[in-house]
Amino acid sequence: MTALAAIEAAPFDADAEAAYMADKVKTEDPREVIRAALARYGDRFALVSSFGAESAVLLHLAAEVSKDIPILFLDTGKLFGETKRYRDTLIASLGLTNVITLTPEASDLAERDPKGILWSQNLNGCCFIRKVVPLEKALEGYDAWASGRKRFQGGLRAALPHFEAGDNRVKVNPLAYWTKDDIAAYMKAHDLPEHPLVAEGFRSIGCMPCTDRVGEGEEDRAGRWRGQAKTECGIHLSFQENAALASYDSSGL
Ligand code: SF4
Repeated sequence: MTALAAIEAAPFDADAEAAYMADKVKTEDPREVIRAALARYGDRFALVSSFGAESAVLLHLAAEVSKDIPILFLDTGKLFGETKRYRDTLIASLGLTNVITLTPEASDLAERDPKGILWSQNLNGCCFIRKVVPLEKALEGYDAWASGRKRFQGGLRAALPHFEAGDNRVKVNPLAYWTKDDIAAYMKAHDLPEHPLVAEGFRSIGCMPCTDRVGEGEEDRAGRWRGQAKTECGIHLSFQENAALASYDSSGL
């Protein structure tokens, strides 16, 4: 039995899958990374987008491969109105046919955040019920998912490969090796519309209470959870790590 046949005959093993894809897909072209993931995982492959400052690039690249790839969008209930309008603009201009908006469970909000102010008391708990849980539930239908993380964003992202394993799924990072200049050049070359808040000084855009403008010389993500130890919303950590963080932080609630 070949190595590939052995992988396909066995229960899904994300570590083996990520290693297989890393070995098989040798390219610098994000389209080829997306194409390979779609070929291998079919309708078990999705893309997750925040429709934020740089999201148009990955969405445009994906649309060139297929406009039907499921695109999961987390509407936390705390987003800027501009982000939702930008989502609708990109859906129309790129011809995306399969954008799926995910929302928090009403029962979780009622139990954990009835006043909508959990973000001011417990960031990890708020991200857990508004992002991590809805995405985890949605991803039950998928073996692999792509997002727009880049190495140049630093922190936990500095060593991203094109394919990695996480929570027994393959995480696909088509833009891992692109630079900030690559992103800007692609936006310009394809005349992609900017998120309206970029012109107002926001270079990384998440939820309204947790996103600040960034100044000259600051990292793009410096305005996310400004002044807090938190640098990631948690969707790229394991579900168990997120549950532990949320539980720890919520001990006083
Ligand atoms: S980014 Fe802020 S408002 Fe949004 S889910 Fe996380 S803590 Fe809550």
